[in-house]
Amino acid sequence: MPMNHTIVLIPGDGIGPEVARAVVKVLDAAGAALRFIEHHAGQAALDLGHDVMPPATLDAIREHGVALKGPCTTPVGRGFTSVNVQLRKALDVYAAIRPVRSIEGVPTRYTDVDLVIFRENTEGLYSGVENEIVPGVVTSLKIVTDKGSTRIARSAMQYARERGRKKVTVFHKANIMKLSDGRFLEASRRVHEDYADIEYEELIIDAACMKLVQDPTQFDMLLMENFYGDVVSDLTAGLVGGLGVVPGANVGEGHAVFEAVHGSAPDLAGKGVANPLALLMSAVMMLNHLHDTRGDERARGVAGRIKTAYNAALSKGAKTGDLGGRLTTDQFADAVIECL
Ligand code: NAD
Repeated sequence: MPMNHTIVLIPGDGIGPEVARAVVKVLDAAGAALRFIEHHAGQAALDLGHDVMPPATLDAIREHGVALKGPCTTPVGRGFTSVNVQLRKALDVYAAIRPVRSIEGVPTRYTDVDLVIFRENTEGLYSGVENEIVPGVVTSLKIVTDKGSTRIARSAMQYARERGRKKVTVFHKANIMKLSDGRFLEASRRVHEDYADIEYEELIIDAACMKLVQDPTQFDMLLMENFYGDVVSDLTAGLVGGLGVVPGANVGEGHAVFEAVHGSAPDLAGKGVANPLALLMSAVMMLNHLHDTRGDERARGVAGRIKTAYNAALSKGAKTGDLGGRLTTDQFADAVIECL
């Protein structure tokens, strides 16, 4: 008997509902035994008369443990804390795990990129603590705790050990932010003492970015605080074909939220042309998570079949516009389904 899992589906805003629909179609066709319950966040929640991050959405994720999330728009300006920052902090999903890999059939300057980014997800410069201290002067607090730094470093190094990864590189700016980034480095060094089998390296982030674009293959796993992780995720996406091909997981002790790195792409919203692959890859990570945390062998099998199918579809030339193809969101999903 297949295990049935209840997944909280947050379609999101902009291209979110379009790519989420396409991904659910592929999951259904692949025989993933998933029951989706839909909840909202972001602009979609506001439009329904709720807060941008409704308590019912958080409660549903707390109850069921796993969510698949489309991108959410946070209205810019005063009055709204970012939907994503709220969600990640409320659920304490402290590790953003983002595999960035070259994919056959997606032409880019590099062919052998294989990185995994571990981004601290709950503090740093995205603590959301900002103040106008006197008229005309504002501050934005960068919060770094021993607890937050230690647990993200430990989860990165544990991941490296379990997946046979060789090296973890910490990106930082401790030469300027001596206390905050200094604390992050201290925690990483301390954790590394328990992981002597993993090579450990520290790089100042500006030089690290240059090295990344010169030769990304010199890196393996990248560990960094929240803001750097946000920026470096998009930078590395650019090395492998763009935001349409980079998935992500936000993982904590009790819950996990799977979502692509990309945002709601207002320039593409409503046109039906966005690439659903990044969210589909996130769903594959979710199925593997169901295997790893609940022992569901079948979920791992379905994950493998979907991965093989999207690789086959891409190598046959099935692509959306961002990758130089002409398929719509739905047509790409159908091409993957044909390859299942
Ligand atoms: P974005 O990621 O939405 O878009 C950046 C560029 O990448 C755009 O040119 C867009 O067309 C392209 N792109 C993104 N996803 C694509 C896809 N699946 N297929 C093809 N092309 C794709 O970033 P932005 O424009 O800076 O942000 C738009 C909104 O998204 C903002 O409100 C922002 O707050 C929000 N956002 C949400 C999340 C999230 O929910 N996790 C993440 C990032 C941004």
